Amino acid sequence: MSLYGDYDVNNIFAKIISGDISCYKIYEDANTLSFLDLFPQSYGHCLVISKKSQARNLLDIEADHLTNLILTTQKIAQVIAKELQPDGIKIAQFNGEAAGQTVFHLHMHIIPRYIASELGVHACKQADADTLRTLQNRLVSAIKLSV
Ligand code: AMP
Repeated sequence: MSLYGDYDVNNIFAKIISGDISCYKIYEDANTLSFLDLFPQSYGHCLVISKKSQARNLLDIEADHLTNLILTTQKIAQVIAKELQPDGIKIAQFNGEAAGQTVFHLHMHIIPRYIASELGVHACKQADADTLRTLQNRLVSAIKLSV
């Protein structure tokens, strides 16, 4: 059901874009925004969204906004690879509630994978603020160095 329908202008990521809700922002440009996932599945789990498109999922998004979204996803993934040195990086994206989507503003998950640690449960355990702030500062610095 939730694969289709109207975009909810009050969804949580729309509120992050408008500034009504804060986030641990790590990167922003004219078209896209990247921030830490509040309930990370691994150390360095972050999200990338389009600031311009009101697509609920991959099926909806306009080609130019999708291009910007995937290019920012690649850029952030490259920085994470260099800075956090994970063993792998999972890029994930869910379409519809049945597929696991919980926020209906299209977003890309960047989930570093470490052989030594298991993947956490999706959107389950909130990370503590100090850990998120330290990671945010680290990634912001690494992104600045990469451009
Ligand atoms: P999905 O289930 O694919 O729609 O993913 C939504 C993601 O957003 C989950 O991984 C949540 O942990 C994450 N999330 C929910 N609320 C926030 C928030 N306020 N700031 C950052 N991440 C959030």
